[in-house]
Amino acid sequence: MRKLPTEPTGGAARPAQEVDKPREECGIVAVSGSGAAAELAFLALYALQHRGQESAGIVTVDDEGASRVHKGMGLVADVFNNRTLAGLEGSLSIGHVRYSTAGDSSLRNAQPLLVQYEDKPLALAHNGNLTNANQLQRSLAHDGSIFQTDADSEVIVHLIARSRRRDLDGKIDDALSQVVGAFSLLLCIGDTVYAARDARGFRPLVMGRLGEAVVFASETCALDIIGAAYVRDVAPGEVLKVRAGHVESMRPLPPETPSACLFELVYFARPDSRVWGCSVDEARRAFGRQLAHEHPAEADCVFAVPDSSNSAALGYSEVSGLPFELALIRNHYVGRTFIHPTQTGRDFKVRVKYNPVRELVDGKRIVVVDDSLVRGTTSLGLVALLRDTGAREVHFRVASPPVRSPCHYGIDMPTREELIASSHSVEGIREHLGVDSLGYLSMEGMREAVADHGPFCDACWTGNYAAPLVDLERLKALQDT
Ligand code: AMP
Repeated sequence: MRKLPTEPTGGAARPAQEVDKPREECGIVAVSGSGAAAELAFLALYALQHRGQESAGIVTVDDEGASRVHKGMGLVADVFNNRTLAGLEGSLSIGHVRYSTAGDSSLRNAQPLLVQYEDKPLALAHNGNLTNANQLQRSLAHDGSIFQTDADSEVIVHLIARSRRRDLDGKIDDALSQVVGAFSLLLCIGDTVYAARDARGFRPLVMGRLGEAVVFASETCALDIIGAAYVRDVAPGEVLKVRAGHVESMRPLPPETPSACLFELVYFARPDSRVWGCSVDEARRAFGRQLAHEHPAEADCVFAVPDSSNSAALGYSEVSGLPFELALIRNHYVGRTFIHPTQTGRDFKVRVKYNPVRELVDGKRIVVVDDSLVRGTTSLGLVALLRDTGAREVHFRVASPPVRSPCHYGIDMPTREELIASSHSVEGIREHLGVDSLGYLSMEGMREAVADHGPFCDACWTGNYAAPLVDLERLKALQDT
């Protein structure tokens, strides 16, 4: 889900790209048919915490059709306690974790969304970004819809409610065939759960079973924590309907070429998950191995920028023969919104998060592997830190290609202007970072490493956007007139 952009109202409008920029990442879960639905959703969200650290929420529906909701700002473990979980009665639950940087960090936008639809509760949790939400919202508002939030996901609720189709399945079909972009969606209406993915399948969604209960989650690590068995991925364009333990598959959306997000494998998903039918750890090791073939270095050791680069650095070590060291130690208690009111300076944020083991760095020629370079600010601070610690030579390796284009489908990325590779050559970035050598994994090498899987969305590296950027194009047209 993303915050809906405000349209320019005259005066100095911000660039269309910035206005449209999606700034949210999410993790979702649903449990159907368990006496412990809320507790299972809580545990699953706990495992999906890396997908969103700003707000968390769970909606439950009991056998009488009554709904309960608890949402809060902060981490899953802080939002819920025994008392709040005990209050969430019901055998059906839907949960959501969310991260946003758009300044709309309000509880109002926390999911799941919960409304009363006719005589039933309707709850919705969404991961992904709709690229025509602004257009749909304007037309719905014009027809009288009143929006409770400024999240793009709410348009789906209005489209369902306004659909002229007679049955619920038809209304959901109708709504989903009008939205463009990325959605992995968990929705319940009364005692029925729907799990859906957009036709290109940008964001992951898996189904599992725990005894009689059916579980859906963004990643398999959420199934593992509750002991649920993985059954299969929800297919692109598929809508699964679950009621009383019975699972029915519908495919209402016209087929498109699948476009699974490759950045999930690079950075976003947990390495202990299987995403797109492959082990995330194995994919990252393959990226690291390929990186070592493409960009070898004369050095004493290799280490990762923990934790997202660990597997890639192990792959690099395997092929290069350089010993893998744990030379950078990460403080795990630093959140994304870490505030440092008195300490300033470029490197301080990095110093709070990472500290080198001096004995492994001082006087050494080192290879540092990071999974991706986005703004370049983390690596700039890290390199300064490693030089201060006495590194003799720093060879920086990135286990993915240069990120040149923002993501419009659900990964939080800065605007094009802030992406260092959009304005600098690799040599320019090397100079900027002050490293002895810099090597990125090539696009071909990356594709080759996961050739058994895909097809993938690689828009952040190539600028090839598979789903039309409807709102963005409209804003551009408006600004050009
Ligand atoms: P920077 O180049 O300073 O913007 O940060 C790049 C680092 O942030 C990489 O080491 C990644 O592990 C991590 N990273 C990549 N994408 C994201 C994202 N969407 N949100 C948060 N961190 C990210």
